Amino acid sequence: MELVIEHLSKTYANGVQALRDVSLTIPTGMFGLLGPNGAGKSSLMRTIATLQEADSGSIRLGGLDVLTQKDDMRRVLGYLPQEFGVYPKVSAEDLLDHFAVLKGISNAKERKESVTALLQKTNLYDVRKKSLGGYSGGMKQRFGIAQALLGNPRIIIVDEPTAGLDPAERNRFHNLLSEIGEEIIVILSTHIVGDVSDLCRNMAIINKGQVLLTGDPLVVMEQLRGKVWRRAVDKDQLPRLQQEMEVISSRLFAGRTIVHVVSDGRPGVDFEPVEPNLEDVYFARIAEATRAQVVA
Ligand code: ADP
Repeated sequence: MELVIEHLSKTYANGVQALRDVSLTIPTGMFGLLGPNGAGKSSLMRTIATLQEADSGSIRLGGLDVLTQKDDMRRVLGYLPQEFGVYPKVSAEDLLDHFAVLKGISNAKERKESVTALLQKTNLYDVRKKSLGGYSGGMKQRFGIAQALLGNPRIIIVDEPTAGLDPAERNRFHNLLSEIGEEIIVILSTHIVGDVSDLCRNMAIINKGQVLLTGDPLVVMEQLRGKVWRRAVDKDQLPRLQQEMEVISSRLFAGRTIVHVVSDGRPGVDFEPVEPNLEDVYFARIAEATRAQVVA
């Protein structure tokens, strides 16, 4: 099954154009939606999740018209929003049971089975009696996935799921997501490039409401091969370099500033070639789009 988004646009009442003619085809598996804060990711996720209206465009999931058949979409959708509040005094098992009732699983035995299976899948079974207030960030996120998976959804949406997780928790959460992504559509919305390069076979980069690039992370990285160069500079050299060449990123490493530059040929004697990574693709595209806008 595929989720097909065509020409989706949205302008909020305050005049912010959050989505500009967005078209994307999202197949089964993990799909990464990558963009800086304010890019329009949540607006897109909320629209797919039927929580807000678009001004124009369409979204289809197989034969389902998502924007008009909202109830049908909700039946096959699991959603983990950015801010997932839990009732701190309730145990994971009780709250999941409660969500299962809301999801329409009315048969008690069936509900018990699916709650137990999901607690096991998300590795929370041993702590199922513990109140959610005592859960770590990673445990809460795994609980969020458990509730999103209730009722066997065909598609799940996770919005910025690893922000605030420590590396071990993030790893555990990644493994859980990729396991789920073998069977259904999982859309992972994030500003963390590493989440997408670790997990996703397909991705899109979105900025200022527009899709800048779509594809397989490995393929888009390959397209930059031979064009990314690196050198260490003193901090005060950076502004001049930024004027003279296309600096896509600069970061401190061992007390020095390491810049990455995109250029068809070696931009200077001090530069060495580097293997492009997804972060280079990301920053190169965002820089290109920003430049195009300044020129326009
Ligand atoms: P992201 O999830 O990528 O950070 P959002 O979809 O939250 O992006 O926001 C896109 C743009 O729309 C931002 O400029 C944001 O301030 C604006 N925005 C988001 N929600 C609303 C809203 N309910 N009303 C007005 N502006 C909004």
